[in-house]
Amino acid sequence: MSLLRDVRDKLAGIGANALLVTAPANVRYLSGFTSPEDGVVVITGERAALLTDGRYTAQAAEESRLEVVITPNWEEHLSEMVGEMRLAVESEHLSLHRFRRITERLGAEPMATEAFLASFRLIKSAQEIAKLREAARITDEAFENVVPMLRPGVREVEVALELERHMRLAGSGGPGFHIIVASGVRSAMPHGVASTKAIAAGDLVTLDFGAVYEGYHADMTRAVAVGEIDPELRRLFDAVLEAQEAALAAVAPGRSGKELDAVARDLLAEHDLAGAFAHSLGHGTGLEIHEGPRLSTRSDDLLAPGMSVTVEPGVYLPGFGGVRIEDLAIVTESGHEVLSRSPKAFRQV
Ligand code: ZN
Ligand code: ZN
Repeated sequence: MSLLRDVRDKLAGIGANALLVTAPANVRYLSGFTSPEDGVVVITGERAALLTDGRYTAQAAEESRLEVVITPNWEEHLSEMVGEMRLAVESEHLSLHRFRRITERLGAEPMATEAFLASFRLIKSAQEIAKLREAARITDEAFENVVPMLRPGVREVEVALELERHMRLAGSGGPGFHIIVASGVRSAMPHGVASTKAIAAGDLVTLDFGAVYEGYHADMTRAVAVGEIDPELRRLFDAVLEAQEAALAAVAPGRSGKELDAVARDLLAEHDLAGAFAHSLGHGTGLEIHEGPRLSTRSDDLLAPGMSVTVEPGVYLPGFGGVRIEDLAIVTESGHEVLSRSPKAFRQV
């Protein structure tokens, strides 16, 4: 497996010869095990193993691409595998408590790394892209199914539950994150998780959600007007759509995260809305909802074929309302492929 060879090369480069992987998404990425919260991966020069407990004997044997070790105490087995080797650990995902216990067992402090496996996950394989495409397809289908229920009196949570119901029945492993359904003044909250508020006539409703297919996360946002909306809200919608389409059109290999962010931000500035764009333009998705590359004012990440990115400008006027529009795309050799197919044009129901 060339991935393991590359991981070992990178380990050698930092002066380590063993790696303990504890971040669930990384455990799943390396092993294929679908209950990664209950397992760890240990890679040495000789071995690459998934360590998990007796509850997963059958599941791990069926799913894991790596040797499986069933153990009631992975720390003990880790020290057997690692011995005198120099062990690297993932600092973002190992508690201080565990770190101390491992140090005690090994008699030496492990080397703390940051984002050690992130660079490997950045470029998606054809199989990973196929999973993202299916996740996006389920997301589109769920959206089309709930649009008819957007009407005055329906509560945001009812809409969120319906989205989740459709996604689950279509094979989604559950919502990738808290489903955002933000109507009326709540649409001014970029992260307005569905509440018990009832949708009212004149509300612009923001829906931000995504299916998870075989571990891979889609992410999409649409805004739908329920009845006649305030002309100022319509102006915000048109400006965001223009910025979103321009930034999405610019997605191509070699473009930087900040260059793309600027495409949207500059356009919104022309509409005097630069100050209302309160977050960054986008992010990669994969086994996690937020991964690299980052598209933001400070990101030097360069896009390359196989990366996934969301393009999601938004504007928010507290006490009034807001709009965000988001698509998921894959960077290709010649530009990009948009995975989100739901129509984006202004829609009033
Ligand atoms: Zn989103
Ligand atoms: Zn997003």
